[in-house]
Amino acid sequence: MSTVSWKPISCGCVHFQLSTSTGALLKIIGTKNPVVPSAKELMMRDSNPHTTGKCRCGQVQFEVTSEPLMTMACHCTGCQRMTASAFSLSALYPSNEFKVTLGEPVIGGLHGASRHYFCAHCMSWLFTRPEGMDEFVNVRTTMMDDAQFFSPFIETYTDEKLSWAATPAVHSFNKFPLPENFPALLSEFAQQNQ
Ligand SMILES: [Zn+2]
Ligand SMILES: [Zn+2]
Repeated sequence: MSTVSWKPISCGCVHFQLSTSTGALLKIIGTKNPVVPSAKELMMRDSNPHTTGKCRCGQVQFEVTSEPLMTMACHCTGCQRMTASAFSLSALYPSNEFKVTLGEPVIGGLHGASRHYFCAHCMSWLFTRPEGMDEFVNVRTTMMDDAQFFSPFIETYTDEKLSWAATPAVHSFNKFPLPENFPALLSEFAQQNQ
């Protein structure tokens, strides 16, 4: 689909910009993945642990109402510091499929154009609204109630990774995938998760 284009941006966790409408992206995913759930499926999702998450103290809680568009691990040094760990884990969702259900997260990290949201009490990093991508939110999958579900499909910034760190990602990138790679990656991820 030529309507989708990506360009790298600098940040602590998401290093790309998708310039398209949510509709255009869902159109790509939708070729392999029906986007209209049944009533039964919606009921199952209500009790599905991989659709809810919270911070360490539980004062901020959130939910998602769709499958992720992509799951990622990022080895950049910014993510290492933000997570106090070897890499960050995240899942990309359309913004209208994500909702904070309890509490009021606050901006943290670099306080730059990409907005990293944290719990004001326990300081857990919960989600990111990347620069110029209001249609999307990147949720920190370690905060999900069933983090097991979110095996990273791609890993980024392996140039900066700790030498002993490893993930099960299917695709690895020195920095970030080239813009033209993204439509195929999103499509492959959607097929894998059918
Ligand atoms: Zn990163
Ligand atoms: Zn908290």
